[in-house]
Amino acid sequence: MSVDTTHGSAVSRVAILTSGGDAPGMNAAIRTATMFLLSKGVEVVGIKRGYRGLMEERFRTLTLDKVSPILREGGTVLGSARCPEFHERATRDEARRILAARGIDGVLVIGGNGSLTGANLLGHPQEKGDQKLAVVGIPASIDNDIGLTSYAIGVDTAINTIVEACDKIADTASAFDRTFLIEVMGRACGYLAMTSAVASGADNVLFPETHTDPEALVETVVRTVKKVAMRQGERERHSLIIKAEGTSLSSSELKDAVDARLAAEEADIGTVVETRVTVLGHVVRGGRPSAFDRLLGSRFANVAVDALVRGVDRHMAAWMMPIAPPASVAVKSPVDP
Ligand code: ADP
Repeated sequence: MSVDTTHGSAVSRVAILTSGGDAPGMNAAIRTATMFLLSKGVEVVGIKRGYRGLMEERFRTLTLDKVSPILREGGTVLGSARCPEFHERATRDEARRILAARGIDGVLVIGGNGSLTGANLLGHPQEKGDQKLAVVGIPASIDNDIGLTSYAIGVDTAINTIVEACDKIADTASAFDRTFLIEVMGRACGYLAMTSAVASGADNVLFPETHTDPEALVETVVRTVKKVAMRQGERERHSLIIKAEGTSLSSSELKDAVDARLAAEEADIGTVVETRVTVLGHVVRGGRPSAFDRLLGSRFANVAVDALVRGVDRHMAAWMMPIAPPASVAVKSPVDP
């Protein structure tokens, strides 16, 4: 660990970028990272639109005035973009040259699995004679699908948004004893669907990890709807079923298949049951960050840039019990792929 005594910091100029799917709370991380670094005499530049902006040299100086008001804003003031070329070594070498030419010796990447993989590769390998470049990362993804951290920025706000929507839908569902299929984001990861189903008291939850067989999916929904619709006495007869977007049937395919089965079994159920679909879509990604996400973004940023200043690189800030991950984890780990 080497510390430049001129600045009392191992880095003198740090670039911050947000990449991949945007998540509420990214701005809190940008703000705290900038404030912390400026307080250590480190210059801070923001890169607009992730790795794409890095390759297009879209840099701008970040000051206290610029970052102070952004804490409560959703999304990311730096913007995001996909940059498939960053998978190629030649592009990352060019990125290092661009950063070196601007005297940037530290980078903070805020993003999901793809962005953090890119960050890891950007910081390594370094050739002899390369200007030193320290890279650290902060996990941000509403899907909560990033390894080695219990929480990523944006998850809490997204769950709260879903639960609020479910509460509203439950009001109208109960008035007409209707069945609602509510689709939430999560192409490959059912975390949001599962946690919001528990928190909103849903009757069932469908997610990509287990619901891969279309027939079983239809059967699960039909069974749930029938069970609820055939309840006796004063009990509620409306159902709420939360579905992650990545299950084997789209919401409209599922609705059609379920409605056909329910119509065929109408005599058995004793009433007509019709399903309604609400796709929450990008609503789940937006909105003002919750207090928890503001705090999480700020604390991640604090840890990550403190590491940069102390001469640590190729690390990701994480929210977890203090455990020692396997040594191979930064390369490729069977424990946490
Ligand atoms: P997220 O960061 O939310 O997972 P993506 O997977 O789309 O989003 O990744 C965002 C960007 O990160 C990509 O457009 C690409 O520039 C970079 N990236 C993703 N995967 C890699 C990889 N394996 N190697 C290098 N860069 C990557």
